[in-house]
Amino acid sequence: MSPSLYVHIPFCLKRCIYCDFVSGIYNPARADIYIEALKKEISNISNEKPISTLFIGGGTPTALSANALSDLINHIFTHFSFTENYEATIEANPGTLDKEKLQALRSSGINRLSIGIQSFNDNELSFLGRIHTSGEAEQAVHLAKESGFENVGIDLIYGIPGQSFASWMVTLEKAVSLKPKHISTYELTVEEGTLLYGYLKNPPTSPFSKGGESSLLWQRGARGDFSIKTLLPDEDKIIEMYEHTIDYLTADGYSHYEISNFAMPGYQCRHNITYWNRGEYCGAGPGAHSFINGKRFHNTDDLDEYLKLVSENMSPVNGSETITEDMALSEALFLGLRKTGGVNVEAFSRRYNKNILSHYQQEIDDLREAGLLEVASSDCSYETTLRLTRKGLVLSNEVFTKFI
Ligand code: SF4
Repeated sequence: MSPSLYVHIPFCLKRCIYCDFVSGIYNPARADIYIEALKKEISNISNEKPISTLFIGGGTPTALSANALSDLINHIFTHFSFTENYEATIEANPGTLDKEKLQALRSSGINRLSIGIQSFNDNELSFLGRIHTSGEAEQAVHLAKESGFENVGIDLIYGIPGQSFASWMVTLEKAVSLKPKHISTYELTVEEGTLLYGYLKNPPTSPFSKGGESSLLWQRGARGDFSIKTLLPDEDKIIEMYEHTIDYLTADGYSHYEISNFAMPGYQCRHNITYWNRGEYCGAGPGAHSFINGKRFHNTDDLDEYLKLVSENMSPVNGSETITEDMALSEALFLGLRKTGGVNVEAFSRRYNKNILSHYQQEIDDLREAGLLEVASSDCSYETTLRLTRKGLVLSNEVFTKFI
């Protein structure tokens, strides 16, 4: 099997308040030094097998200049061979795109663009600390298509403090009207260590401005009209948003192929499917993870340390884990069940030499009884699939904890 390749760009123009990714503020000189180190690390990755999918993520890869991006991508395509029908994605922020950059990306071999739009409501974008407006996000999608990107995906976030159901609907409708091939919808989670986490614990007493432009929502919270915590949509509302998203996007022709992901036929993100299928992948850059020959390892997530190690011809890997048989079974289930198609019982037996239904009989029985899992049989192929029910999709974390 051909492995996948993930390449991390740890720079953004500004920190979004909910972000816990490995990323710092973009600085052109530091970015140049980083690209040289990254190329060096990439050169040391085995290129025996052709790459099937490439994902350049971040951070904000498109914070880099067109020249820096072309230089990096040319290096990747020179060092590795790629399968004939490879998928090569780059994550993009609408506030960092222009036609020159998009054309440079397309002509260097990138054939899929994943644009982080998050919302088509300017108040929500401002609240999140995003650097772009709704209008700029829409413009970015048009510009991408004009620049030769046929395969454009967009990312959206729901459950934003202050967001109403109606506002989420407007965002979804706008997204669909732009006809992207792929739509990811993620619930906003408040991760420890993020600016948002800090603001919720210690609400600002003066009008909010730390995330960037002052946000109306935060100003209202700070005035004492209501506390910021009460702006977080409650669980029922989040579930309503999620369920409506499924109905709305599937009615519009998108297939719901993973808990948070929707695609037009033939446009599922193959890179992410590699992760959910426990396929092999290599990662380059700070914080990047790899999974090769049954072993997982990851690089240091400290950029300074990464640059030092690579400049001294040392490996940036600072942690590894050998996956035991039990861990592999558990991973195969909680990753595989993320896909709405579920886990094929016969294929699981062939790959892991275990009958999933008997190995996890008690857990599966409990989850079936709770209405979260179902076993489906296909009449024509005599194949059996274990998959989440609609209720299981909503409460997927409850299912996964049973297998971890
Ligand atoms: S653009 Fe993405 S990676 Fe950068 S701060 Fe915002 S959420 Fe984080």
